[in-house]
Amino acid sequence: MRTKQDFINGLAKMKRNIYYDGQLIDRTDELQMDCINTIGTTYDEAAKPEFEDLMTATSHLTGEKINRFTHIHQNTTDLHRKQDMTRMLCQKVGGCIQRCMGIDGTNAVYNVSYEADKVKPGETNYHENFKKWLTRFQREDLVAACAQTDTKGDRMLRPAEQPNPGAYVRIKERLKDGIVVEGCKLHISEASVSDEIIVLPTRALRADDSDYAVAFAVPGDWDGMTQVVTIHNFRTREHYKRGFMPGYTDSYLIFDNCFIPWERVFLAGEHMHGGILALLFALFHRHSYSGCKPAIGDVILGQAALAAEVNNIYKTEHVREKLAEIIMTIELGYAAGYTASDLGKPEVYIPGMGFVPFGPGSYIPHSIYCNVGRCLSGEAVYREAEILCDISGGVTATFPHEKDFANPVTGEPLLKYTKRNPKISAEDQAQFWRYLGDYLCSASGGIMNIGNYHGGGSPIMEQIAITTQYDIESRKKLVRFIAGMSGGDREALAPKPPKK
Ligand SMILES: Cc1cc2nc3c(=O)[nH]c(=O)nc-3n(C[C@H](O)[C@H](O)[C@H](O)COP(=O)(O)OP(=O)(O)OC[C@H]3O[C@@H](n4cnc5c(N)ncnc54)[C@H](O)[C@@H]3O)c2cc1C
Repeated sequence: MRTKQDFINGLAKMKRNIYYDGQLIDRTDELQMDCINTIGTTYDEAAKPEFEDLMTATSHLTGEKINRFTHIHQNTTDLHRKQDMTRMLCQKVGGCIQRCMGIDGTNAVYNVSYEADKVKPGETNYHENFKKWLTRFQREDLVAACAQTDTKGDRMLRPAEQPNPGAYVRIKERLKDGIVVEGCKLHISEASVSDEIIVLPTRALRADDSDYAVAFAVPGDWDGMTQVVTIHNFRTREHYKRGFMPGYTDSYLIFDNCFIPWERVFLAGEHMHGGILALLFALFHRHSYSGCKPAIGDVILGQAALAAEVNNIYKTEHVREKLAEIIMTIELGYAAGYTASDLGKPEVYIPGMGFVPFGPGSYIPHSIYCNVGRCLSGEAVYREAEILCDISGGVTATFPHEKDFANPVTGEPLLKYTKRNPKISAEDQAQFWRYLGDYLCSASGGIMNIGNYHGGGSPIMEQIAITTQYDIESRKKLVRFIAGMSGGDREALAPKPPKK
């Protein structure tokens, strides 16, 4: 397994293909270091003996010890550990740990490449190609971004109907030794600090969309792919450092006549499987959310409680209600993910067919619980921001910059007028408002909220998944019976405990 320094050394060797604010930058540019340090935590913590069970696994391909972020879930314990690892790491960095797109993308492609090979037996080799790629990915302990979201053009048109054929990434040409793709994937988190980019479809596809049923993986500096990155760092601190400084990046990935050799292609034209791959990545990602969002909730709860303490209103009834509300969201999201892990099986839900065995036997979390958990806790993002805003008052919005506190003329009076709760030092109160202002009022804080709301799919996507997969008909029959209507069935929901 690699160290954080090995990861940084690998990035330093990559070709320059990343633009930021009009300039071509190095991957290890100072601006990217907060993000690199955040992902680097996944290497640091994996090396600690106390986290060996949580953060490492045994590869089912090679039998070697690997970082869990490169693992394919072999049982429900793996699903539980992935959720708990995610929560633990997100707590440590005070936000998103950023390496989950790789584990979620690899688990989705692993299953779908296996099933897609059955469409034209002997003609495609997607799964074996993917296993070779995965073996190297595990051995070299690489970081992967997952590029699913297309630009999508006119939302009312399907991929093949778009006036711009590249509105969704597509196969432009098929060659003897590979394919040529064009299009643009956007909002791709941490692509600018990833060794590999996994590309997969964004939506259900029809037969005439088959050129859009494409999945592959390429190094982040691959010829024919240009990145345009936005980097989300908090305001730098010179005098009053934070305990941990997280950072995030998101890229537009522009594919221009980009050649992908067959050994890196894991789907090329099987439209049904393209749609399933889109759903399956989203499902694994919503399961990751049941680890990260509870951790972000842990941070928000700490922020809200400390804001109340600094304002000396901690014991008031309205604060207690708000803290309880945050806790309920945290633990309902976690409980949904826990149940999704516990009921995991090598099965997926396919519209019109229900739950069917799927893939070579690796474990997939239960869809209803992943979607319920993500939707409930994702939609709570702005309510949580409202609670922080309410309890803090206006101070986070206008708190003076750190150099005004370091200045001998303004520092002393500012500290004097910062003091609220007599039991907490003015210095600590100032440090807390600086931090909460970063979180609540900065550009990065706003971006994080949008990511937490839409990441893994907008709430409507989870609502569609929940309502199409849930057995609403049985509930109607039950009520018909209880109400004394025709067509009722008392046994419609007769206990069929979910099998493990
Ligand atoms: C910070 C951040 C990080 C992200 N990281 C990643 C990443 O690493 N990888 C990745 O692949 N994606 C990533 N995403 C993308 C994320 O998954 C998408 O933002 C999300 O799926 C919504 O897609 P969209 O942004 O295109 O919005 P849209 O889909 O355009 O949604 C906007 C609105 O339009 C509605 N809408 C859209 N289509 C229709 C329709 N046909 N009919 C009716 N209503 C419609 C939606 O319900 C929503 O209300 C990230 C996003 C953010 C903000």
